[in-house]
Amino acid sequence: MKRKLSVFIVPDSGDVRQFSLTKPLIITALAGIVLYLGLSLGFSYGFFTTKVKEHKIDELTRENKFLTAKIDEFNQSIEGLQGQLADLTDKEKAIRTIFELPEIDPGERQLGIGGPNMLPMEEEVVPSRVSAYQSEAQLDRLLAETKFEKEQFNDVYQALLDKRDDLDHTPSIMPTKGWITRGYGNKRDPFTGEMKLHAGVDISNRIGTPIIATAEGTVVTVGRQRGGLGKMVKIDHGNGYMTVYGHLSEFKVKRGQKVKRGEVIALMGNTGHSTGPHVHYEVFKDGRTVNPLNYVITYAAAN
Ligand SMILES: [Zn+2]
Repeated sequence: MKRKLSVFIVPDSGDVRQFSLTKPLIITALAGIVLYLGLSLGFSYGFFTTKVKEHKIDELTRENKFLTAKIDEFNQSIEGLQGQLADLTDKEKAIRTIFELPEIDPGERQLGIGGPNMLPMEEEVVPSRVSAYQSEAQLDRLLAETKFEKEQFNDVYQALLDKRDDLDHTPSIMPTKGWITRGYGNKRDPFTGEMKLHAGVDISNRIGTPIIATAEGTVVTVGRQRGGLGKMVKIDHGNGYMTVYGHLSEFKVKRGQKVKRGEVIALMGNTGHSTGPHVHYEVFKDGRTVNPLNYVITYAAAN
């Protein structure tokens, strides 16, 4: 038996209308509604997910731009640092030249720093990645260069300290104030008139004028020579340097005492084989006398 559904439309006024709906018609209508809803739901889902993806891509693009810009900034900072490090390296080289310290040959410099870093092979070259790898490589190199340069400055610092120590122990000032009355070399002896080597310089002034040590060292002799130098002081400065001060009137140091450059060791006198108040000053280098004036850097005695 066929089922039939009747629908009555009853308006407030007018005739009542009746529709008859068969089962297949109802099923068709319901299927149509379900299909419509399903499709529109599917479309809107697709629409929204596309929107969300687009939004995500926008966000990532902005993020990527920001990071790429940052990497560029880092690269510029690294270049700035490289420039400053290059300046420091030039200064180090200049210090080596000025103070006659051994120069590091470029090969050793290169070895100390290492070669340029290789970029990893990429299936696809992405500019931001290349940029990132470049900054990484530059940063590694900068760190290696900085470490190497720091070692160079430590070396230079130590070498200068040693040099300063050497200079402190080199007799490089005048032992007293006064007038050079006899230089170093072959001179006529004032007593005998014979030509012979005058192994030091004579500096004349009043008796009692302070005599100072011309470099850092240790007093090795405080004594009196009959004739000859009279009252004399001898100082060992190390590095093969010795100095002798003769014809003194008074000692101000004892044997074994350590003295600094400029420290008063005695007073000028006229003792020994002398024709007037003066100091006879000798400098020995490796056991042989040398012209003391060749070592004098400044003629101003320290007091
Ligand atoms: Zn003399």
